[in-house]
Amino acid sequence: MNKNFGVHRKQIYETGLFKPHLQKLFCRAIFNLRERVFMNAKGNQIIFHPGALEKKDGELVQMGRKCRSCGKTSFPIVELCPFCSSEDFDKVCLNKIGTLFSYSITRVPVGPYKPPIIAGYIDLPEGTRVFGQICADISRLRTGMKLKVETGVIWNEKDGTEVIGYYYVPCEKETGGMS
Ligand SMILES: [Zn+2]
Repeated sequence: MNKNFGVHRKQIYETGLFKPHLQKLFCRAIFNLRERVFMNAKGNQIIFHPGALEKKDGELVQMGRKCRSCGKTSFPIVELCPFCSSEDFDKVCLNKIGTLFSYSITRVPVGPYKPPIIAGYIDLPEGTRVFGQICADISRLRTGMKLKVETGVIWNEKDGTEVIGYYYVPCEKETGGMS
């Protein structure tokens, strides 16, 4: 994988699209992202982002950051609270059901994702707005509908490694039409 990435980085440099100091920052960001993806490697399955999902009672759940200072919950877990910059927090399991706030549909391939790609923001009861992929019949999508989170393979690496992540699907009562 590092070999392939080396080629990719070289191609980026050769495009000449970026100024040298920006090239360095850009390539470093991509490199860091790939390192973060692979640092959870266990056999042939990895979690797409460290700390985003944890196993609880045998199932993978989304983990959020509940600030001890302002009490707000955010996702994914980062060092500083995005609302008050406090470093003190507790890890909490996020609610599995949320409300679709907004979404967009991409009709060209993006990285490992095949079109149509639906991505959106889901508002959770704890006040957290989560960005995620949505697996649903496009014709039935509407803002305000209830979605529930599921986990599973979101793409396969070229070496066969399964990348595990989360995505949202309509709640059962939402699949039969208007509710
Ligand atoms: Zn806070």
